Amino acid sequence: MATAAIVSPEIMAKYEPVIGLEVHVQLLTETKAFCGCANKFGAPPNTNVCPVCLGLPGALPVLNERAVEFATLASLALHCQVRERSIFARKNYFYPDLPKGYQISQFDKPLAEHGWIDVPTPNGTKRIGITRLHMEEDAGKSIHDGFSDSATRTYVDLNRCGTPLIEIVSEPDIRTPDEAYEYLTRLKEILLYTAVSDCNMEEGSLRCDANVSVRPRGQEKFGTKAEVKNVNSFRFIRAALEYEIERQIDVIEGGGRVVQETRLWNANEGRTYSMRSKEQAHDYRYFPEPDLPPLIVSSIRRAEIAQQMPELPEARRARMVADYGLTEQDAQTLTATRAFADQFEAAAKTAKSPRRVANLIQSELTSRLKAAGLELEQSPISMKGVAQAADLAEEGKLSSKQLKQLFDIAFEKSEDFPVVYEREKPQQITDASEIEKMIDEVIAANPKQVEQYRGGKKTVAAFFVGQVMKASKGQANPGLLNELVVRKLDS
Ligand code: ADP
Ligand code: ZN
Ligand code: MG
Repeated sequence: MATAAIVSPEIMAKYEPVIGLEVHVQLLTETKAFCGCANKFGAPPNTNVCPVCLGLPGALPVLNERAVEFATLASLALHCQVRERSIFARKNYFYPDLPKGYQISQFDKPLAEHGWIDVPTPNGTKRIGITRLHMEEDAGKSIHDGFSDSATRTYVDLNRCGTPLIEIVSEPDIRTPDEAYEYLTRLKEILLYTAVSDCNMEEGSLRCDANVSVRPRGQEKFGTKAEVKNVNSFRFIRAALEYEIERQIDVIEGGGRVVQETRLWNANEGRTYSMRSKEQAHDYRYFPEPDLPPLIVSSIRRAEIAQQMPELPEARRARMVADYGLTEQDAQTLTATRAFADQFEAAAKTAKSPRRVANLIQSELTSRLKAAGLELEQSPISMKGVAQAADLAEEGKLSSKQLKQLFDIAFEKSEDFPVVYEREKPQQITDASEIEKMIDEVIAANPKQVEQYRGGKKTVAAFFVGQVMKASKGQANPGLLNELVVRKLDS
């Protein structure tokens, strides 16, 4: 990536970045926010539309209760205070994909405020404030294509008009691109756990605008911010922020002034471009939506919604560390998605050693998934399969080499572990005398190591176990082998 390294680290260190994120999330409701049209990605253009979402004169919006429920659930998961009475407002602006000429949003009385997300930083956990969470509707989509040699055409697809959104605005509490990345990762995790959105960035169900400014360290007043749009992955947001921070410092160091503007991220070039200057704040002429009554979320309703709250990722990680003796790192991987954590826990409950199940996932499964370019959910080996493999290893019925081979076959043939195990049933040498014969040979061939062992270096036993296992082509019963090696060396 062509991030221009223009500013020296010494100069960079003189400045402190200030970052605030605005995240739009589409809610996973069956129908749109104010009409009965299907809320579905990928339908043929302009097929999921009606007079309400097209903004035809006289059509009246009716609020989708499910959208309110999801928005409230997300607010509570983010520790926000939910307003009993919030107000919808019209945000007026012209754009070809906005036939109504306004978006229904919320302005000075949003659904929820004063929340937070805890994020890990190199100096421990840091709390990032959430200013507000409000409901609004999405606009349509303009599709620009440059097929013809000269003219570029723009098409308008209004299927997305009226899709229910929540916008989550952070406080300007974020200080580094890494913190921004962590904040987004945690936020997405929470939204996925509460199942209010699929958070699919490629399909635009999660979109992030990043506001960033820099100020000389020690100065209290914030610098002028730029807003970076059009960034479609968390990694790119981090890269865009890194670029933008450096650019702004360079401007200031050169005696210039950062202008308030919207900038677009270009992933191919690894830089941002000015899109439009925003010296004067936009005037959206907000006013209360006359066609909708105030939104009331009573304390009873709020409590009902709170009842649906699943165990959230952070709490779940802490519990799994305690329940299964996992490391933080294990717990992190295993709770990457709620479905995956559910599967792991189902397997761990019956497995002889949950710890071993976790280890297997970390050591054998994730590397193979990565190599095959698969997500956890696409793994040919199910959690049940991993649990069975862990049990067999725990009981010494499968050497680690055999286990690796079976995992390889499972990935090659896209079969689950139990299927592969049934068919391949790897041979095991459980005949003690046969194993002893091999041990004798290894002992005879390695007098130096024998001397070390007998001199008190007991860890050398592992060397002999390894050598014999190799000689047996991974087929010696591991439990028996361990026992016999020690007995032989001690005799
Ligand atoms: P605007 O009126 O331009 O929309 P807001 O005050 O509503 O600005 O803030 C939008 C986002 O920008 C919020 O996430 C906020 O935390 C962040 N923000 C505000 N001021 C700054 C600043 N000086 N530097 C960086 N981020 C900022
Ligand atoms: Zn509609
Ligand atoms: Mg604003």
